Amino acid sequence: MNFFEQFKYCPCCAHNYSPKDFISRDFVFHCPQCHYEFYQNGTPAATALIPYAENPELILLITRNTSPGKGLLDLPGGILRYGELPEEAVVREIQEETLLDIKPTAILQISAIDYHYKGYQVFVVETCFLTEPIKDNISKVSTDEASSIGYYPAASFIKHPDRLAFPEHAEIFKKYLNFLQ
Ligand SMILES: [Zn+2]
Repeated sequence: MNFFEQFKYCPCCAHNYSPKDFISRDFVFHCPQCHYEFYQNGTPAATALIPYAENPELILLITRNTSPGKGLLDLPGGILRYGELPEEAVVREIQEETLLDIKPTAILQISAIDYHYKGYQVFVVETCFLTEPIKDNISKVSTDEASSIGYYPAASFIKHPDRLAFPEHAEIFKKYLNFLQ
């Protein structure tokens, strides 16, 4: 059972749901009182693969300071805000995390990552952008969400996806390395 099937009340009118109010085929609660349709959707996110201009085999990664994957490496990025497009979100998130102004140039991959967060299951649909390489030898983080930042060889994660907070991202590194050749 998905955690949201245990939701008890309509978020609009506080009607007490009964099991028949959840239509599992459509992942939606139909409120019989106010008719609000409470859809359970995936959560859109955007990340960036940022190559180092001096050596494009090196890419910028953060060490996560939050769960899930605390202490492991991750692509910078985050969850979209309401009304944002993925390419807007990725520019904003990376500004916040690294103070860098990035320029997305292509979509490398769209991944699904089903993860556990504070007792809930979150189904993240993540767009990963390739960006223009950057020249800055960046080493300072500007967010509590990361404990450090640096450049790492993309190839090392093909052999060791366990060093990544989300091993699903190994596919992105593979695609990128093919793209470089
Ligand atoms: Zn309602």
